[in-house]
Amino acid sequence: HQTGTYSSLRRPLPLPPINQPLSVAEFCLSLFQRTSTDGSTTFVVNETAGESLSYSQFVSQVRSLAYSLQQRYSLSQNDVAFVVSPPSIHIPVVYFALLSLGIIVSPSNPLSSNSEIAYQIQLSKSVIAFATSKAFHKIPFLKHGTILLDSPEFLSMLTESNIDNIIKSVKVNQSDTAAILYSSGTTGRVKGVMVTHRNLIGILAIIHRYNMDQGKDNGMPPWRPVTFFTVPLFHAFGFFMLLGMVLSASTVVLVERFDFEEMLRAVEKYKVTAMPVSPPVVVAFVKSGLTKKYNLSSLQRLGCGGASLGEEMAQRFRKKFPNVLLAQGYGLTETSGGATRAIGPEEAGRYSSVGRLAENMEGKIVDPETGEALPPGQRGELWLRGPTVMKGDEKATAETLDSEGWLKTGDICYFDSEGFLYVVDRLKELIKYKAYQVPPAELEHLLHSHPEIVDAAVIPYPDEEAGQIPMAYVVRNPGSNITQAQVMDFIAKQVAPYKKIRRVAFINSIPKTPAGKILRRELINHSLSNGLSK
Ligand code: AMP
Repeated sequence: HQTGTYSSLRRPLPLPPINQPLSVAEFCLSLFQRTSTDGSTTFVVNETAGESLSYSQFVSQVRSLAYSLQQRYSLSQNDVAFVVSPPSIHIPVVYFALLSLGIIVSPSNPLSSNSEIAYQIQLSKSVIAFATSKAFHKIPFLKHGTILLDSPEFLSMLTESNIDNIIKSVKVNQSDTAAILYSSGTTGRVKGVMVTHRNLIGILAIIHRYNMDQGKDNGMPPWRPVTFFTVPLFHAFGFFMLLGMVLSASTVVLVERFDFEEMLRAVEKYKVTAMPVSPPVVVAFVKSGLTKKYNLSSLQRLGCGGASLGEEMAQRFRKKFPNVLLAQGYGLTETSGGATRAIGPEEAGRYSSVGRLAENMEGKIVDPETGEALPPGQRGELWLRGPTVMKGDEKATAETLDSEGWLKTGDICYFDSEGFLYVVDRLKELIKYKAYQVPPAELEHLLHSHPEIVDAAVIPYPDEEAGQIPMAYVVRNPGSNITQAQVMDFIAKQVAPYKKIRRVAFINSIPKTPAGKILRRELINHSLSNGLSK
């Protein structure tokens, strides 16, 4: 650690030889087959729709859909398929079928507006879409059209009887892009982050080891959690967790729209043992009286990530639920999900740490001013390198990934002398509303398009429940009387609900560097000291 480079302190994790053609779907399914699970085990439940799939149904639908896509659509490997749907039992089938064919999956938030979706499709160069009929109107014309997940045609593609191991004829290289996920990275508008099969195999191997170790440590077979998903399936967190469920034949419980009490009911009903969550769910667990109404005794573990979880909140959670292990992890879309992991009670007990680096991951703390690598205890920007670091994105690659493969996270962090990582601040522009990404540049762009607005800047404003809310500083045209409500309404009409501006202050000019870069820190300090801007 002398040089300021930190390695994972965990046993190195062997991955399949890099030259072996292997899609992440086949990687998961081959480990699944080794579990010798009874095919009638439930894989996925959509509690809202009252639908479910067993593992044997799932595997057969994946093969059938892959076959039907090959037969009915002339897609090529590395074509991009856009997926936009609320959680359903079809989503894992679509993901696995596409991945096994070497078709790139690009999942999007179904709450996105028409223009947000159009922009994402343009970035990813999607040629086909999978969507529910409710989202159909948001999707522009694509070369191979849109397959409606609730249509008889799609259902017929799941039950093709004529599948002759056709997928074997497809050769997917691990270095091929598996998914394009949307993230704004450190600056600017949203980008398409290219995550490879290798990146995902890197993450899934970690989950696999975790499941195996959990079993071994308790003298039991590998851990097979019953997992309730509170995290979206289109975000890196939910995306890799969903694939990871197959490794140990675990059960996934989904709802179409998250509701805290519905979740509690499902925990009781399905004896849920594990949940990936973001901090607002932990806050709800701590504050809600509803938790007493349900039997939650099956719950063993909450894995929290996506945004920072207050230390006090973590402590209150542990007090209220002493039998539930609350483990905090840290990751980015650009690291295909988790870059650290907290495993045992010792690690989970460090209330403010996000755990130690995951297997095969290296870290560096870099002084943003001097570029110098810093020793334990000192704060700087976290750089990461390892098998799960993205291949790149179509825009900012050089800014984010250096020539030695280091990813600049845009987060201010430090390591302690035992290799535990602490996230203290964000250097990058990104705002996280309930762990959802809100890129300020996108909202500033929209604000600039208003005829009565001369200039604008958007910053994060702290909020106990949401973590942060987007706040706008607005310079009005001379003579304009536009109100805060009108500014908020103007944006709300054009963006997904989580991107809404929830606080507005008027100002005479936006502070900027001579080069024209917004001095966000100055505005953030202003908002905190003035607190009560009208
Ligand atoms: P995303 O790409 O949406 O996963 O966002 C990644 C960003 O979320 C990171 O760069 C951090 O700023 C933030 N983040 C994720 N996990 C944590 C955590 N455990 N604590 C603090 N910030 C986090």
